[in-house]
Order: sequence, then C-alpha cells, then structure tokens
Amino acid sequence: MLATSFKSGNQLSASSIRAWRIAQALVWLVGATIFGCLLFFPALGLLLFWNVLIPVAPALMVISVGLWRNVCPLATTNLLPRHFNLSRKKKMPVRLQSKLGLVAVIALYLIVPLRHAVLNNSGIATATLLLVAVTIGMSMGFVYDWKSAWCSTLCPVHPVERMYGANTLMALPNAHCDSCVNCSIPCPDSTPNFNPAVPQKNNYQKLSGFLIVGGLPGFIWGWFHVPDTLEINSVREIISAYTMPFAGCILSLTLYWMLLNWENKRAGNRVVKIFAASAVSMYYWYRIPALLGFGLFAKDGQVVDLSSVLPQWSTTLMTIAAVLFFFYWVVIRKSNHQSWVVRPAYATRQSSLSRQKVDR
Ligand code: SF4
Repeated sequence: MLATSFKSGNQLSASSIRAWRIAQALVWLVGATIFGCLLFFPALGLLLFWNVLIPVAPALMVISVGLWRNVCPLATTNLLPRHFNLSRKKKMPVRLQSKLGLVAVIALYLIVPLRHAVLNNSGIATATLLLVAVTIGMSMGFVYDWKSAWCSTLCPVHPVERMYGANTLMALPNAHCDSCVNCSIPCPDSTPNFNPAVPQKNNYQKLSGFLIVGGLPGFIWGWFHVPDTLEINSVREIISAYTMPFAGCILSLTLYWMLLNWENKRAGNRVVKIFAASAVSMYYWYRIPALLGFGLFAKDGQVVDLSSVLPQWSTTLMTIAAVLFFFYWVVIRKSNHQSWVVRPAYATRQSSLSRQKVDR
C-alpha cells in the first residue's frame, strides 16, 4: 500500500496517504525518543544516533533514497508548516537554491569532523545540533514552499543523498508534496537517476557537484583516520579533527578534477558513479569493523565488541561483500531511469507551463 496506491494523475489514494502518515509518525517517534535519550540518557542516545541510525542511512540512500526522504523525522518536522498550511509558500529563486545547496555541502564538511572533536561524546552537543537544524529548517518552512525550504537545499545530509541515490531501486510515491509546485529546480526527488553533477545551470551548482562528488571519498577516508577526542583543551585539537578529512578531500578532488579533464562527457558520468560507489564503500569498509569491535581506534563507533568471538577475517569478508555490492549497484547495474519518488500532479496548469519555460 505504501508503494503503489494512486488515485489518478499521481495523486495518492486516501488509504496510501494514511499509511504514509502512520509510517512518518512512527519514524518521527523513534527520532523523538533518540532526541530525548541524547538529553537524558546520553550514552544510549549517542549509541542509537551515531552508531545505529547513521550507519544504516548510507545503505538506505543507495537502495531507496525516496523511502528515507519520505520518512526522515527531520524532514517531517521541517515540513510541518507546509503540511498545516502555515507557510507563505514563497517560490525560492533558482540562484538562491543553488547558493544554499553549496552552503549544505560546506556545512557537511564542517560539521562531520566535529563528531570526533565533540559530537560523538556529547549528547547535549548532538541534541543542540539537531535543534539548530530544526530551528533553521522550520523557519525556512514558514517562508518557502515544500522541500526548497530545507530538504532540497540547506539540509547537510542532502548532498550525500544526491551522491548515493543515483540508481535507486524504484520510485516510491511522494509522501510529502500533495501536488507539485516546482519548488525545486531541478527537483532531486522527481528527476530520474539524479546525481550531484546533473544541475549545471550556474557556477554554484557546478561547484557544489564538484565538491561533493570529488571530495567525499577522500573526506570519508581521512575522517576514519582520526580518533574521537574525549576532551578538547585547545583550538589545535579542534583543527586536528579537520586535518585528515580535509587532506583526503583535497586528494580525491584533485584526482576527480584530473579524470574529468581527461575523460569525455559520457565517461564523466561513469566517473561520478565510481566516486559515489567509492565513497559509500569507503564508509562501510571502516564502519562495519568499527561497529563490531575491530575499529582502528579502540571503542570508537562500536555497537558490540565481538573481537574475542569473531575472527578478524570475518569482518574483512563482510566489508569486501559490501564493496562488491555497492560497485555492482551503483556502477555496474544499468541505470533504471527511476526517480527517488514519483512527481505528484502539478498544482495548476500555470505552474506546469512555468516549469516547461524554466526547463527549456
Ligand atoms: S515534487 Fe514538486 S513540490 Fe515536491 S519537492 Fe519536487 S519540485 Fe517541490
């Protein structure tokens, strides 16, 4: 029922809407519970957020980013003003969308190293980060229409969705937008095989695409070579959390730039896929062993310590299987021309015409 029940013109049936609302409410409750744990039971909250929820997210984005977009608790919260008709529903200019998209990429690269410096060990800091995201996202939601307010522009997770979601399993119904008003151009949710290199209308879009595709694999590699710091006593310690991720990022950006200049456009798409598969593979290459107690740094990122039960080679096998899967799914598997979710019917004939004008 969640996947298929449409009335006509891509409008969801009442029973499908109800099913999606229940799914959103349940996932929202899980998110709210984790948020409460971060404040009142920080050890449990940190474990659930950073070592259970976040490690699942990249794989889910690869397989079905539309499912993630439909039920993400932050999206559900930040879209409340629009769902309850409290938004001014302003149309955000494409140039501003592009600038905010670049801000999201920069925010991602600035926030993630802070996990080692403070977030991984502080429930209050992680809860504050989430609260800031909700405050900004909801404030934007009171002004701008649908996902242009947060989900498709400022959300720092969105560049990763773009990176990993280029060949999703299937297009799910859009469980947020009741009709399409062209809030996002191009709409990442509704464009088949969307990836960060697709938007090329201005330099902000080009730069965002370049930074996330080229930089992410090296950034992830560098990030996993930094231990969590229990106490920050100087600015130098904060800077050291950035050194390896930024060094890795610059290295892979350089490689990406060289490949782009060397390859033709058709091969360029393959390079984007290879970098996406490399980034998600790099993540699980280090993440799976760390979750099971075989990480590079003692208990960093550990859910359960199986190091005395499992042989080391078993985690090697798991990581190799993960890498093979992601390269098959992202690079080898044929592009299926599916979008993340099905675009709902356009709100009015006028907005449909204006979209055609913009797309031309
Ligand atoms: S489907 Fe339409 S209204 Fe919804 S996010 Fe995409 S462009 Fe905006």
